[in-house]
Amino acid sequence: MTQPSFDYLIVGAGFFGSICAHELTKRGKRVCVIDSRNHIGGNCYTEERNGIHLHMYGPHIFHTSNPEVWQWINQFVAFNQFTLRPVANYKGEIFSLPFNMWTFAKLWNITTPQEAKAIIETQSAHITQEPQNLEEQAIKLVGTDVYRKLIKGYTQKQWGKDPAELPASIIKRLPVRFTYDNNYFNDTYQGIPIGGYTQIFSQLLKGIELRLNTDYFKDELPTHDRVIYTGPIDKFYDYRFGELEYKTQTFTHEFKAQVPNYQGVAMMNFTDVETAYTRIIEHKHFDPVDLPHTWISYEYPVPYKASESEPFYPVNDTPNNTIYAKYKALADQEPKVSFGGRLAEYKYYDMHQVIESALNFIRNLTT
Ligand code: FAD
Repeated sequence: MTQPSFDYLIVGAGFFGSICAHELTKRGKRVCVIDSRNHIGGNCYTEERNGIHLHMYGPHIFHTSNPEVWQWINQFVAFNQFTLRPVANYKGEIFSLPFNMWTFAKLWNITTPQEAKAIIETQSAHITQEPQNLEEQAIKLVGTDVYRKLIKGYTQKQWGKDPAELPASIIKRLPVRFTYDNNYFNDTYQGIPIGGYTQIFSQLLKGIELRLNTDYFKDELPTHDRVIYTGPIDKFYDYRFGELEYKTQTFTHEFKAQVPNYQGVAMMNFTDVETAYTRIIEHKHFDPVDLPHTWISYEYPVPYKASESEPFYPVNDTPNNTIYAKYKALADQEPKVSFGGRLAEYKYYDMHQVIESALNFIRNLTT
């Protein structure tokens, strides 16, 4: 029997696929990586335009409390000290996010945590039972004013539904701080790679056979012994148990030729329901450069259609997790295919989590 050209065919050049490719090549395996897109990096892909690194699939802020992951990624790139401090814009009124004493001070003209807690208690006093939906849950946590200005419209745009019709569980983990701390993440390490994310993937895939614009299901593939698949698991099984649901969005990117600083912050959330987009991202604030122009991106939430839309955020509710469990049972029986990453495991992985998962996967791989 003739030997296959590659020991591993890796489907997807995002973090999971690229880490596997890198580590397996170090072990002497013959690896080929394919991606249906025309670039590496998966959803973390950044593209340089006019000297600015654009986050092409939405803003990516690296954050972790895992020293091993932090050390690992720092081999490939240097990070700046970016800290995510988003701003909410409600019909031209500016508030600090996540909800913290800066938000409450602006909203109610108060200064102390005691005052803020007392107002929230008064405004949520009518929710006496366990909250039955997202609206009640939000009001219970932050009161009616914050809900009305900063949660209601934004949630309605994101989910395409009135918050009173959405489950309370979506907002259970709403970050609320009674301190003047508007750092979005609680992690020990945080930053943006200086020069963008794509260089990390170029280094991981250096010297490895890479075929872009190559779809696992449509294109001719080189012969191989095993597969590591990082695409959507429902697609792998031709949706036989039904489609898994994702939240998704589209982006429009805009060059501002004569504008050195458009909005003064990397991320501004538009929380009213009338503004069609949910956020404007100004990329140069992630990785600052002194240039007379800027690039901004508008984010629009759109309904997800499998096979047409980019699957972004898995909707890990009970109906979807039940469908996923059926696919997982099949995947566990595959002798020659392994499934990993956000889409193949249907998990809301952030970058540090997918890195940890890929490194563990490789550690436990015996063949
Ligand atoms: P992906 O990056 O999705 O890579 C999978 C690859 O497989 C893709 O390139 C795809 O084209 C390819 N593929 C799929 N099907 C096929 C096929 N049939 N044939 C060939 N190739 C195929 N994480 C953070 O830590 N911080 C953040 O701020 C953050 N912000 C985010 C914002 C958005 C809008 C999104 C969507 C995600 C964000 N994330 C963030 C999460 C981060 O993007 C993921 O953790 C990471 O990209 C997962 O890597 P992956 O390799 O699992 O998947």
